[in-house]
Amino acid sequence: MSHQTPEDANHHLVQSEDPEHPANLIPSLCAKFWNLGWVTGTGGGCSIRNDDLVYLAPSGVQKELMKSSDIYVLSLAAQTDFKNRTYLRSPPVYKPSQCTPLFLAAFTKRGAGCCIHTHSQWAVLVTLLLETRASSSQGPGSSNNPRLFEINNIEQIKGFGKGYTKQGNLGYHDTLRIPVIENTAHEEDLTEFLEAAMEEYPDTYAVLVRRHGVYVWGDNVHKAKTMCESLDYLFQLAVEMHKMGIPWLSDIAETLPASKTA
Ligand code: ZN
Repeated sequence: MSHQTPEDANHHLVQSEDPEHPANLIPSLCAKFWNLGWVTGTGGGCSIRNDDLVYLAPSGVQKELMKSSDIYVLSLAAQTDFKNRTYLRSPPVYKPSQCTPLFLAAFTKRGAGCCIHTHSQWAVLVTLLLETRASSSQGPGSSNNPRLFEINNIEQIKGFGKGYTKQGNLGYHDTLRIPVIENTAHEEDLTEFLEAAMEEYPDTYAVLVRRHGVYVWGDNVHKAKTMCESLDYLFQLAVEMHKMGIPWLSDIAETLPASKTA
């Protein structure tokens, strides 16, 4: 780039030979997520926090073609108002992502090191099934709450931490619960509802957005990515289970000890 904007003076913040540097990792992760159908048509995205610095993809960029020079950087400590954000480094030709305040909520309210947002069809379908089930008062689970996805007795649930304030991971018989918020016309307007869901479910690492997708966060990139993959697996499984009339919640935990003593 021959000309430099004042913001672009900090271009060095996104220049590194290290493939693990957030400015390199975000494009490589987004290219993988694009192949999974999670960030197609410029939707969805990924943000990484390294101590005080937050690395963000721009709005409207094709996720599989993103470059490290496309990445925004901001300092968490320097922000006084998340609606009027100031950036340490801005790419000259883009606008900041509408997902930014939602990513920042995961970093400031949960101390996350990475947050991933997908528009996965499985996530969208699960929220639609919950909505349909609530209006018809019957369906794959035992409750009819359209604002909560629940599943248990599936091995992949072990991939989730017990919670923000707890040690260890969920067990096979534990129930995984993911809150659902309603979509808004503008992505930024989801922030207050995402934060409210975090308050209501302090141990959750993800929030579904009805007819839209899912936000998943973790202490670091590895944890956020593996939980996002496990969730997508479970969402797909849940959709297929529903088609076959198999409930998402089973009482296998209670029936097993009884059959042992019989
Ligand atoms: Zn989105």
